[in-house]
Amino acid sequence: MSSTATDKATIQDTPGLRMLQTAQSHLDDAAELLQLNPNIHRILRNCDRSLKVSLPVEMDDGSIEVYTGYRVQHTSVRGPCKGGVRYHADVTIEEVTALAQLMTWKCAVLDLPYSGAKGGICVSPQNLSESELRRLTRRYTYAILPIIGPRKDIPAPDVNTDERMMAWMSDTYSTFMGSARQEIVTGKPLSLGGSAGRADATGLGVAIIAESTMRRYGTAIEDATVVIQGFGKVGYWSAHYLEQDGCQVIAVSDVSGGYYNPKGLDIKGMLDYAKTSATRTLEGYEMEGVTKISNEELLLLECDVLIPAALEDQITALNADQIRAKYVVEGANGPTSATADKILHERGIMVAPDILANSGGVTVSYFEWVQGLQAFLWDLKEVRKHMFRFMDNAFNQVCEMSEHRQVSLRQGAFMLGVSRVADAVEQRGLFP
Ligand code: NAD
Repeated sequence: MSSTATDKATIQDTPGLRMLQTAQSHLDDAAELLQLNPNIHRILRNCDRSLKVSLPVEMDDGSIEVYTGYRVQHTSVRGPCKGGVRYHADVTIEEVTALAQLMTWKCAVLDLPYSGAKGGICVSPQNLSESELRRLTRRYTYAILPIIGPRKDIPAPDVNTDERMMAWMSDTYSTFMGSARQEIVTGKPLSLGGSAGRADATGLGVAIIAESTMRRYGTAIEDATVVIQGFGKVGYWSAHYLEQDGCQVIAVSDVSGGYYNPKGLDIKGMLDYAKTSATRTLEGYEMEGVTKISNEELLLLECDVLIPAALEDQITALNADQIRAKYVVEGANGPTSATADKILHERGIMVAPDILANSGGVTVSYFEWVQGLQAFLWDLKEVRKHMFRFMDNAFNQVCEMSEHRQVSLRQGAFMLGVSRVADAVEQRGLFP
């Protein structure tokens, strides 16, 4: 039987495949350090359910395009599945699988009553109109409807998705159920049961972990220099909060490239520029003292904190030995390959791993879900109080594990997350 172009596309070496290999190797490493029961290790290496869906969508000109979407549920052992939905041309089943697994470990590190899932559609959303995006989102929601639900699997925004898509998903699900079921997704608009403090939660969480890491390992926060790759939901808010707390954000980038000023950038001014530019990016941004650099150059700038907050597989064996940051704080999921991770560790560069550093988003998503189930809304003060508590606990527990076992923060985080999930698998026992 001859394989199709799509089959070939999914088996070739992609960033998604490399990310899956990296995620698996972190699990294997933690399993070895924990001396995990091999049967449980084997269960955790696999996903409970992977759904591939075909999405025919009527375009504005009357033609029909067919997109491919995925929803992968790693496990439901610690509670309903939870994870974002990504719209990107590079989405593959391997990438979504890796992201679903990372969600499991992240929820366990934060001790949230969730397991991991992820979804994605292989599409370039910038080429679609608002109404085409709405039809695509509704068709995707319909296609994954049999496996999602407020007690089964709760989607959220990720790369190139936001509260608009969550509103359409919530409406589509509620229409099919015949009653208001807004708690089906998180990251919704406030007027539809969204939570105070959700929009900036991931970036705020990245800033909390960056500052906690600096404080614990002896770097002054005041005037610490920060470089951020990605200027979206995570990158912008990380920059905003670190700048607010006295750090100097000296470089940021997006798809259009990098912008560098050793004296510090005007973060709010850059956001205002991107919001009103034709491409909704920093393309064409100019300011006195700001030099345009490439994304590759940006990663190699000398700084205290480097925050990759765009896509996976950015710090690899090709550039890890040239990184000149004291700390790497992973805003993105899977931005560092397994080989690069070892190189950074050997070079004494401390990495705050994704499953800890970008967990602010899922933590406040959890609060949004709880508020939805109880039909009782909290104010921002309440949200922040609980968010700080969850993140402080997780940070301290990861550091204690890493210091006690003399392993990296990533190994400490994986050991903590994997041991909690393994414990749940053991306690529930195998069906039948
Ligand atoms: P987003 O779509 O809001 O922003 C992505 C940003 O990355 C944009 O500024 C885009 O221009 C930029 N970008 C894309 N390709 C790039 C490249 N090659 N070089 C430099 N910049 C590039 O997405 P987001 O929600 O900010 O997510 C970013 C990362 O954070 C992803 O890895 C995502 O999985 C992770 N994450 C997001 C959340 C969340 O709540 N949104 C939570 C946890 C983790």
